[in-house]
Amino acid sequence: MSKASELARRLIREHDLPDEGLYTLIAERDAESRAALKEAAGDLARSIYGRKIFIRGLIEFTNYCKNNCLYCGIRRGNQKADRYRLTQEEILACCEAGYGLGFRTFVLQGGEDPYFTDERLCAITAAIRERFPDCAITLSCGERSRESYERLWQAGANRYLLRHETASKSHYQKLHPPEMSWDNRVQCLYTLREIGYQVGCGMMVGSPFQTTEDLVADLRFMQKLRPHMVGMGPFIAHKDTPFRDRESGSVELTLYLLSIIRLMMPKVLLPATTALGTAMQGGREEGILCGANVIMPNLSPPSARDKYMLYDNKLRSGAEAAENIANLRENLMKVGYDIAVDRGDSLVL
Ligand code: SAH
Repeated sequence: MSKASELARRLIREHDLPDEGLYTLIAERDAESRAALKEAAGDLARSIYGRKIFIRGLIEFTNYCKNNCLYCGIRRGNQKADRYRLTQEEILACCEAGYGLGFRTFVLQGGEDPYFTDERLCAITAAIRERFPDCAITLSCGERSRESYERLWQAGANRYLLRHETASKSHYQKLHPPEMSWDNRVQCLYTLREIGYQVGCGMMVGSPFQTTEDLVADLRFMQKLRPHMVGMGPFIAHKDTPFRDRESGSVELTLYLLSIIRLMMPKVLLPATTALGTAMQGGREEGILCGANVIMPNLSPPSARDKYMLYDNKLRSGAEAAENIANLRENLMKVGYDIAVDRGDSLVL
C-alpha cells in the first residue's frame, strides 16, 4: 500500500493526522488514496446529512469594490469591469423569486462597496428579515468593523461568509496589495463568531504561490476556528487581473481536499462551489460524491450575473441558475441525491 493510502486510512479512522502526515497525504496522493478518501468522506456526509443537499440562493448585489485583490475580477483596479449595484427593491425581488423556488437561505454577496453603509445594509437586512421570517440571511460582503457586524446581526443577519483566503500570512501578502491585512481578516472571523453568527471561512485551491505547506496551514487554521461552513473552490484566472496568465487550480486537488475537510470536520457545511462547476463539467456533482453537501445557485438578475465576474467563464446559466432548480434536482438525482427545502442550519456548535 502506498504511503498516501496508508495515511488516508489513518485519517479515515482518526479524523486527524500530524502535520507531516497531512503534507504527505496531499503531496503524494495517488489513485488509491483518492478513492479511499472519496468513499469515506461521501459515506460520512451521507451518515450525517443523508442524501439531501442544502441549497442557498446567491444574490450578487454589488460589484463595486474598494479592494484590489490580485486574483479577483471585480478588484478596484479593473477598469474594464462594468459596475452595478442592486437596489433594495431589486434585492427583495430576488428573495421573493427565490422563496417561490424553495430557497430558505439568501446569501447577499458583493464587493466591499462603501455605498452600502451600515444604514443601508441594515435596512436591506431588516426588510428581508421582516418579509421572510422563516429564512436564514447570510452576508458575504467582506471586512467591516465589529460595530457594523453587530448592527447587521441586530438587523436580522444570521450567517457570514468570509473566506480567510490563505492561512499563511506571507502567502496572503502575495495575493493582496500591502494595504490589506491578514490579521484583520482573521480577526473579523473571530469577531463574527463571537457575536453569534454561523461563519464560513475558506480558500482557493491552486491560487498563485500556494504550497502544500500552505494547505496544511489552512486545514489547521480551520480546525482552530471551527467554522460552520468551509467554502473552497479552484482558483481560476481572470483576464483583466495581474494573475491573468496564471494556471488554474486543480479540480482533482479541490475534490481531494473536500474529502479531507469532511473527514477532519465531519459536521461542517461544505459547498460544491460555482468555481468547481466552472472548472469541470459535473464538478459540483463530483464534489458532492467527495463529501460536499451544499450548493449555492445564482438568484441574481441576469444582467448582474454577467457583471459579477470574479474569474473567467463563471457559470451563470444551466443548473447554476436558481430558476433552473428542476435541472439541478435532475442532476442531483442522477447521483442519488435530492434537494433539502429548509434553512439547513449548521450542526457545528
Ligand atoms: N468581498 C467579499 C466577497 C468576495 S468574492 C469578501 O471579501 O469576502 C467571494 C470569493 O470568491 C472570494 O473570497 C475568493 O475566494 C473567490 N474568488 C475571487 N476571485 C477568484 C478567482 N479568480 N478564482 C476563484 N475564486 C475567486
